[in-house]
Amino acid sequence: MSRIQLRQVDKLFGDVNVLQNIDLTIEPGEFCVFIGPSGCGKSTLLRLIAGLEDPSAGEIEIDGRIVNALPPSARNVAMVFQSYALYPHMTVYENMAFGLQQQKVGKAEIEQRVQEASRILHLDGLLDRKPKALSGGQRQRVAIGRAIVRKPKVFLFDEPLSNLDASLRVATRVEIAKLHRDLGSASMVYVTHDQVEAMTLATKIVLLRPDPARHGGRSVAQVGHPLELYHHPANQFVAGFIGSPS
Ligand code: ADP
Ligand code: MG
Repeated sequence: MSRIQLRQVDKLFGDVNVLQNIDLTIEPGEFCVFIGPSGCGKSTLLRLIAGLEDPSAGEIEIDGRIVNALPPSARNVAMVFQSYALYPHMTVYENMAFGLQQQKVGKAEIEQRVQEASRILHLDGLLDRKPKALSGGQRQRVAIGRAIVRKPKVFLFDEPLSNLDASLRVATRVEIAKLHRDLGSASMVYVTHDQVEAMTLATKIVLLRPDPARHGGRSVAQVGHPLELYHHPANQFVAGFIGSPS
């Protein structure tokens, strides 16, 4: 099972304290959404879990292992970026297969996993296309497919819908919710600045806020189920951000 725990995690860039004293547990199978104003450290927090940034202090544990010293590839996580980050010269199939080839997964197994992900994401007819021949929504589905084929225990999403137009955003959001249901035990950690996305997807919301009193270090304002934050905001900041009735 893939519990994620952060204990007393700090992150400094130079002498700027971006995250301070982050204590957080994400249970297996949870859909955890990081939300907060722009620049409050959501992406940094996600990148710490992914292993794309190193914490300045504290411990990060995934699945019972301290992962501080482990590279992203050894963490059993897969990340989906806002910008899709597809390889432009590769087909859809090759984009999804590439990471598995690097891991020396056998050809038949790769074929089977790519076909399965394509079915889940309705990409069946598009496997021979290059990314430039796809719509934004299709590209984002390929990026999600590339994560699925790795069968990670943890999916990390950084604002995956922000480059999509409004109707595609809703459709892809529904797709991601379905993916979470279908994959059962996989945990999702999802960054957004969009309250609707957070309220509809999350089983747990982590609301971050700037904290000028701590020399710019950000902290967690409240953690809880969406309805808990809505009906029982811990303070004015939470109430204002979530839009709780006053
Ligand atoms: P969010 O995703 O919530 O908008 P980020 O995590 O991207 O916020 O950034 C949090 C803060 O950390 C911002 O002030 C940003 O400028 C700073 N920051 C992020 N990455 C770096 C970096 N590599 N070097 C220096 N500062 C950074
Ligand atoms: Mg960000």
